Order: sequence, then C-alpha cells, then structure tokens
Amino acid sequence: MRYIPNKKSIFGETLELFEEAVIEAGFSKYRAKQVFDWVYKKRVKSWDAMLNLPKDFKAWLLENYEMHVTRIILDKQSNDVTNKFLVQLEDKSLIETVLIRAPQIGVGQKDSRKTVCVSIQVGCAYGCKFCASGLLGFKRNLLASEVVAQLMHMCEIDQEASTDKSNDSVTFDNIVFMGMGEPLANFDTLVRVLRILNAPWGMNIGARRITVSTSGLAPQIEKLGDEGMPIRLAISLHGATNEVRNQIMPINKRYPLEQLIPAAQAFQEKIGRMLTLEFILIEGINDSLDQARALAKIARKLHAHVNCIPYNKVEGLEWKRPSITRQNKFVDILKKERVSVTIRREKGHSINAACGQLKLKTELSMAASEKSPSSPFIKPE
Ligand code: SAH
Ligand code: SF4
Repeated sequence: MRYIPNKKSIFGETLELFEEAVIEAGFSKYRAKQVFDWVYKKRVKSWDAMLNLPKDFKAWLLENYEMHVTRIILDKQSNDVTNKFLVQLEDKSLIETVLIRAPQIGVGQKDSRKTVCVSIQVGCAYGCKFCASGLLGFKRNLLASEVVAQLMHMCEIDQEASTDKSNDSVTFDNIVFMGMGEPLANFDTLVRVLRILNAPWGMNIGARRITVSTSGLAPQIEKLGDEGMPIRLAISLHGATNEVRNQIMPINKRYPLEQLIPAAQAFQEKIGRMLTLEFILIEGINDSLDQARALAKIARKLHAHVNCIPYNKVEGLEWKRPSITRQNKFVDILKKERVSVTIRREKGHSINAACGQLKLKTELSMAASEKSPSSPFIKPE
C-alpha cells in the first residue's frame, strides 16, 4: 500500500515539479529556484531563514510543505569512523543511515573520505537468509523525501562536527544505497532521488559518486540502464552458482544467473562503468574453492570488480564468517584468475554492518524491555 504523509516535504520535489506547483498557486516561477537555493546551497533549516521571499509566498510554503519530517535517533555504538543513526519517520517507522569518515592513508582525519549509506525501504521483502533487513520483513517503500532527508541530516551532523563552521557546502565523496531495502524494488523513488542528488539545483553530487546495490532484480537492472545515469552498480551475488545462490537468496529463483548475468552485461554496456560484484563469505555455504572459480568466471565475463566481505554476525542467525586462512585462499584463486578483487577487513569500516542490523538490534532490545521504541535514544530537542 502506498504511504501518504500528512504534508509533502520539499526534499522530495524536483525543481520542475515544484515550479509547476508554484506557478499553479499564482507565484512567479523563479521563486521555486530561490527556495531550492536556500535548501540545497545555503542549507537553511526553516522557511523563516529564507530572507528574499515575500510573506504571502512563505505563508503558502508553510501551509503546503514541510522540511524535515524525520528525526535522528542517536546510536550509542558509533565510533570515530562509523556513525550509525536510527532515523524515525513521521509514521514512527525506523530506518538506518550510516555516515562513514574513513581517513585516507597518509592523510589526516581532516581530509578523510566521507560516505553516506542510505536506506530506501522500511525492512525488505526479499528475505535473504543472512540479512537482518530480510529478517525484519517488509513494511513500506520510503518516499523520495525520506531518502533525501537522510542525506540532509548527515550534512547537518557533518557540519556540526566540522571545525570550519563557515563551510556550508558540506558534501560527500560517496553515496551508497546499501542500507535497508532493495533499491530496485522502489524504482520510481530511486530514480527521482538520483535526479535530486545529481542535479545542479539539488545536491549536485556526481553520478559517479553514487552506488546502487541490488540483490539482482534483472528486469529493473536493464530499466535502470535505460535511464542513462553513469552511476555505479553493485550486484549482491553471494553465490556463484544457482545451487548456492538459491540456498541463501530467494530472489534467485525468480531471476536465476542465466537472467541476472545478461541483465548486468546489458547495464554495463549501456553505462560503460565497471560493475562490482559483492560476495559475502559465509562459512560452509559459499566459501568453497569451486565457488571462487565459478565467481572468477562470472567476474571475467562481466569485467567486474569483486568485493569480498567476511560475513557480519547477525543476532538470531546461525551463519559464521570463514577463518582468515580460508578467506585468503578464496581471494587468491580470484587473483590467480586475474580478477580485480578487494576484501573488506576492518571491522568498523564495514558499510554492510548497516544492513538492518542496527534496527534489528534495537527492536529486539525493545521487545525484551517492552519500552517505547525511541525513548532511550532520542536526541534532546
Ligand atoms: N538490497 C540491496 C541493498 C542493501 S544490502 C542488496 O541486497 O544489494 C547491502 C549489502 O549488505 C548487500 O550486498 C547485502 O548482501 C549485504 N549484507 C547483508 N547482510 C549482511 C551481513 N550480515 N554481513 C555482510 N554483508 C551483509
Ligand atoms: Fe533485502 Fe538486500 Fe537484505 Fe537481501 S540483502 S534481504 S535484498 S536488504
């Protein structure tokens, strides 16, 4: 069922749509661009702060639009590198957003790279056997405004943390759609958000800095290719044969490798960017040397980079990560086959720890204590 908010948020509008609404309400078209400049260039947090707008226009804005309809809930377990946040939506649903400040080698924290990992659904319907979001089930799609709001929250937090308070042009090196949910199952929202992130009137973030991760919805991968945006596409493969993939990813029964691989190939040909294949290493499930060989074959066919991720333990699930020796043997086979491969080792740096795990942990502890969802965490206002 489609979720309808009490009031629209400005964060979900494209300039064209907002211009139409402004004209229809009897105001001049250029007022729309003025509002967007305040929101995205000057990053003000209220209509009142928009100094060059006439009173009647501000009254119309106030009546028809909100800015933030979401609230940040702090995570006590954040560390210097990874800050995980629970975000509460207007209907009290919880989602996760992660801000990662990874220092560059040889450079101080000041010059660190900033990545934001956003969610696109509340929960997820695809039920991958290893994933906390899958375990939670699906509640609803996010609105475009709820995705953009996550980034606006992260801008504010990053600006607060910055020593240079005059710098209002906070931006991010990478945006990754690797939080909760399946981006390609909320397709129209995804495309709208990508436009808002990418547009000069919006967040002005280069498409090349944006990664969309998918569990493999083959037809939507091709459809995304038709949009022609040079974003990066990461495919959560996690199994290099149908037999193994079927065991852990129910989506593979709908779109087996014979469909997924050509769809990925078509995307790669249209967009011309190297694909990434994500491969979580799970002990005894997909870490055999035969799987490594089969993975190498797929990666070479797609000219894709492989990102191996040792499995992150999820409470309530029995899966384990393989030993370091086993992980190394797996990666060595890929290297021998001349596949471009990385393995993520640093604990706190793992974006994938975001995928529903924080929310799951919170909901489990809430259920245990039967407390109100947010009371221990909400930031005082
Ligand atoms: N639904 C999309 C995007 C969100 S998940 C997708 O599946 O690609 C982002 C990544 O985290 C995916 O590659 C997912 O498989 C991975 N992931 C999920 N649970 C994980 C876990 N416990 N440990 C490591 N990675 C995990
Ligand atoms: Fe959904 Fe992705 Fe988790 Fe699978 S891995 S359940 S598709 S969020």
